Amino acid sequence: MPDKKDGLIVVTGAGGFIGGHLISAFRARGHKAIRAVDIKPLQDWYQRFDDAENLSLDLNERENCDVAARGADSIYNLAANMGGMGFIENNKALCMLSVLINSQMLQAALKYQVPRFFYASSACVYNGDKQTSFEAPSLKEEDAYPAMPEDGYGWEKLFSERMCRHFREDFGLRTRVARFHNVYGPWGTWYGGREKAPAAICRKVIEAKVKGKSEIEIWGSGEQTRSFMYIDDCLKGIDLIMESDILEPINLGSSEAVSINQLVDLAEEIAGIKLKRKYDLNAPKGVNGRNSDNTRIQQLLGWEPNTSLRDGLEKTYRWIYDQYLARERGDASVVREAFTAAP
Ligand code: NAD
Repeated sequence: MPDKKDGLIVVTGAGGFIGGHLISAFRARGHKAIRAVDIKPLQDWYQRFDDAENLSLDLNERENCDVAARGADSIYNLAANMGGMGFIENNKALCMLSVLINSQMLQAALKYQVPRFFYASSACVYNGDKQTSFEAPSLKEEDAYPAMPEDGYGWEKLFSERMCRHFREDFGLRTRVARFHNVYGPWGTWYGGREKAPAAICRKVIEAKVKGKSEIEIWGSGEQTRSFMYIDDCLKGIDLIMESDILEPINLGSSEAVSINQLVDLAEEIAGIKLKRKYDLNAPKGVNGRNSDNTRIQQLLGWEPNTSLRDGLEKTYRWIYDQYLARERGDASVVREAFTAAP
């Protein structure tokens, strides 16, 4: 985290999953000057802290990017239109429009001479041809080229990575870029269509348990492989990368790859139930296999995300369980109380 506790930190996408956690972490470290920006109305933010400057702004509009960036010491640009495979496969134009956010935030950062800029990229930038095997191919940073990223969302991320690079090279803006691999944890989206696999699987298992169902539906054959990074590791990685001299985009992900079936096994173990699996082979499922090759982050930072999936999933499961029951009761107050209870 930045040393100067008085420099203004700007987090965009602050009403979302990772942005909310990032602000929580800055506060816990004693940072006082925090500007939180998201397009969502304030009451819909996953975590909101009343001692931060909370702004509901659409960063597709250039003047709003100016408002967001003015006076900042560092910008963490996490705002994007995103979701799990179901969302990104069906909303390619919307995902690509996030290019407006990053391009205009970079310009605003330059205009106000913001010293440091972080961009959240994604493992979806990697070449699809290198992800056809179910054996969880480990993707090295150079595997993004020749470019054939995830259509829509991945192309936008790859383009925006390069914008960061050229703003650094041409204009001297200090940019840092991390490629996140599937982040999960409490306060993540867990229903509504934008949720990713760990949250979706937890919700389905919880629903079966609560409602006494014996079967769950799984998207694809269940053999697809992925790695999942717990939110605490993501926050630590953002911090280390922002502080580092790492100029090129770098993987920030767990290297503990599992199949979706193994992910379901873990969720069932935590729930203490065993369910029949119905595979929907027509559902969006993304590439067959993907893992994070962590050679470079190990070399450059001497660290890699290391929370075991079992530990992280258990915390996530418990959080979704409480949210699920509160929602079933129509008890929005539980969710509200949790906002203020967050550290
Ligand atoms: P999220 O959807 O929870 O948060 C993103 C936030 O951006 C949302 O709250 C959304 O309202 C906001 N936003 C969207 N359009 C906006 C606009 N025009 N103006 C202002 N705010 C806007 O997602 P997240 O999981 O917290 O992801 C944060 C960042 O990390 C994103 O850039 C995402 O692409 C990237 N990322 C996340 C993952 C993951 O697994 N969660 C993986 C790879 C990359």
